[in-house]
Amino acid sequence: MIAKLLIANRGEIACRIIRTARRMGVKTVAVYSDVDARALHVELADEAVHIGPATPAESYLNTGRIVEAALKTGADAVHPGYGFLSENPGFVEAVEAAGLTFVGPSASAIRAMGLKDAAKQLMERAGVPVVPGYHGEAQAVVVLASKANEIGFPVLIKARSGGGGKGMRKVDDPARFKDALAAAKSEARSAFGDDHVLVEKYIAAPRHIEVQVFGDNHGNVVHLFERDCSLQRRHQKVIEEAPAPGMSDEVRAAMTEAAVKAARAIDYSGAGTVEFIVDGSGPLSPDGFWFMEMNTRLQVEHPVTEAITGLDLVEWQLRVASGEPLPLTQDEITMNGHAVEARLYAEDPAKGFLPATGTLHHIAFGGEARVDAGVRSGDAITPFYDPMIAKLIAHGADRSEALETLASALRSTHVAGTVTNAPFLAALATHEGFASGEVDTGLIDREIAALTVPLPMTEEVVALAVAALVGVDLEAPYAGWRLWGEASRRVRLVHGGETLERRLVLPGDGSCIVEGGERPLRLREIARDGHHMSARIGETGERIAADVVTWAGVDGQSASVMIDAATHVLLMPDPMAVAAHHGDHGDAVLAPMTGIVRAVHARRGATVEKGDKLVVMEAMKMETSLTAPRAGRVEAIFCSSGETVEGGAVLLRLEEVAS
Ligand code: ADP
Repeated sequence: MIAKLLIANRGEIACRIIRTARRMGVKTVAVYSDVDARALHVELADEAVHIGPATPAESYLNTGRIVEAALKTGADAVHPGYGFLSENPGFVEAVEAAGLTFVGPSASAIRAMGLKDAAKQLMERAGVPVVPGYHGEAQAVVVLASKANEIGFPVLIKARSGGGGKGMRKVDDPARFKDALAAAKSEARSAFGDDHVLVEKYIAAPRHIEVQVFGDNHGNVVHLFERDCSLQRRHQKVIEEAPAPGMSDEVRAAMTEAAVKAARAIDYSGAGTVEFIVDGSGPLSPDGFWFMEMNTRLQVEHPVTEAITGLDLVEWQLRVASGEPLPLTQDEITMNGHAVEARLYAEDPAKGFLPATGTLHHIAFGGEARVDAGVRSGDAITPFYDPMIAKLIAHGADRSEALETLASALRSTHVAGTVTNAPFLAALATHEGFASGEVDTGLIDREIAALTVPLPMTEEVVALAVAALVGVDLEAPYAGWRLWGEASRRVRLVHGGETLERRLVLPGDGSCIVEGGERPLRLREIARDGHHMSARIGETGERIAADVVTWAGVDGQSASVMIDAATHVLLMPDPMAVAAHHGDHGDAVLAPMTGIVRAVHARRGATVEKGDKLVVMEAMKMETSLTAPRAGRVEAIFCSSGETVEGGAVLLRLEEVAS
């Protein structure tokens, strides 16, 4: 067995691999970039090695630094996770050349499946059904256009080096073919440095069903059933499940046999996934599926397979890489119940799923789902990496039970400090059509408006936010306020760009009243226990509860009120703070956006002139110099080189120079 494993990855997958390795008694080595110095995967591993700056090309994609880290720490194997170097045959060769074991398939197997056109030719020869289309060498517009006509519209143009849905264009109308081709090629050129494309028949109402396969170094190949990944947005998986809804024994037998054939054709070893596109216009049929591509690594969605088989796929990977035969034969692998996975992202569904960043002031998961997360409270989602926060995996006796468990886990997922897609995922998990097995890749687009309706904010939420932000203490109702001689105060809040004016009144009878909304609301028995807050509210005195997290930012105090699937963020602006931090006469130098501090030129106590360079930051791959807004003395420095800072964070404060 491998004795010490280096994980050439970060985030949730690095954490997940470390957990299994630890259970098996395998020592672990994490690698990390500047911004990940305090990341969870670094904390979980036995050892950690710094491999470079935040930019992936200089760290997580830096083969030389990673191999060096493995040799230096005495690791004997390298697990690539998914993404980054996981499907890079050059990396496999570098790892093996250093005398280390690569946890995954051979470089030649990865190469065989690396280009979509070559992979399709290979699969055709192996007797695996492939999507009808042209995947030859010719790239001339006239040739491709005439092939498209032969195939019949609509067609799909795909980059052979493609991934993540890039370089892909659906064409309905022959007159549009030329333009779409040019667009696909230019996208492919900039994303993959290769503009070679193939043209495929566009499958109407397609479903995406993939088969998990596993091979070892002794010629054995098995499958671990299928996963349905049809719920996609922009060709990206959103919710995955196993087994596939509507799957029959006959179709399963045909698909898994084709997948095993595909793996055998390239002497596959380790975990792999054979992806099929499936005609979803009617019931599944044994001749209604076609090979799309093979992913020669562990997939993001592997936990749904683990949930239905009860197996640990990372354990299997480590055993196979150590030279052991597969732990089970095909007959011994069984399936139980149904599993669903949702990918929780820092992104804003209301703004076209714009990726978000921010510090996770609070993160908590409830319910019965398995949670694979790579972050914890206090960590930041930075612009450098994929903004996935966690994966939630629910298992049930049947599909509806699994979906119910997932929905309830999503509703009790509370994240403060960044916007997430949790409400969108919860809406999907309870979507009627999806629940009834209507699963095709177009479902999300068709229903997008209904799935992204913002959850309304009630006056109860406002009242809780007011009480939390002001710090109402009903046990000592006049503490502090009596200074002003008044038992009421104005509270101004900002929510989603809108200003809410309220008045908080303390009548002195052990309650408080929040006035100014649609109706005044009385709160009694406010209880706060950590992030949990509850109160009796309104005339009925019904107890409401929420997770409420407050934090101080540059423009005032904010509160995230998390109730059911919704998170409402309310800011109580502090005019003093805003004035102090902005403008020519400001005392503070703020980070203009989330990024890394590259250099701190300022020294505490030093006098500076207006315009002097104080801090250099790197954000969005660009360096920005932050200069003194005015002359003064450096009173305090709140950042250090290499640290990630959130947009708006105070980096440094100036004081007046006494004259
Ligand atoms: P990528 O490698 O960029 O992810 P894939 O070939 O895996 O590209 O396809 C991604 C998604 O695009 C599939 O899951 C499916 O939703 C859609 N797709 C791919 N090929 C076809 C096709 N021939 N017809 C219809 N949809 C397709």
